[in-house]
Amino acid sequence: MPRLLPTEAIPVPPKKPPTRVRGVPADPQKFAVRVAPSRIDGQGAFAAEPVPARRKIGEIRGEAISVREARRRAKGQARIMIVEVSERRAIDASCSGDALRFVNHSCAPNATLRIRRGRVEIYALRDIAAGEELGVNYGQSHHEGRLRCRCGAPACAGRL
Ligand SMILES: [Zn+2]
Repeated sequence: MPRLLPTEAIPVPPKKPPTRVRGVPADPQKFAVRVAPSRIDGQGAFAAEPVPARRKIGEIRGEAISVREARRRAKGQARIMIVEVSERRAIDASCSGDALRFVNHSCAPNATLRIRRGRVEIYALRDIAAGEELGVNYGQSHHEGRLRCRCGAPACAGRL
């Protein structure tokens, strides 16, 4: 029969620092991501630590604008980071400090972009090793098929 120990003898686990402070939103960046030159295009976002499949990697935050303004800004730009989060609202991450804004398009993506309540979230589609470049399928892009895709995937669609 197990016996109850006197309370002094029960080891008390060290108190964890609070993960959330009331009134302060939790950090939306869940895994370390670094920005480095990409083999796909310009700069890319790379996992700086392993990410298990289906976990949220982080978010791309930016300036909230209208879709009309987003389309005006996107016109003629080769590198744009604007995500339409609804039929009327968009996030322009061009001046964002979030490393994930550098995530490139891939026709064989290891991550996916999800819009939830107006937020742009990136999730791992599979286990991602540290050092791997993150790629998402942009889907319908502002480039409207005018840009050549250089993702290098065997199943590359060729255009963006
Ligand atoms: Zn491609």
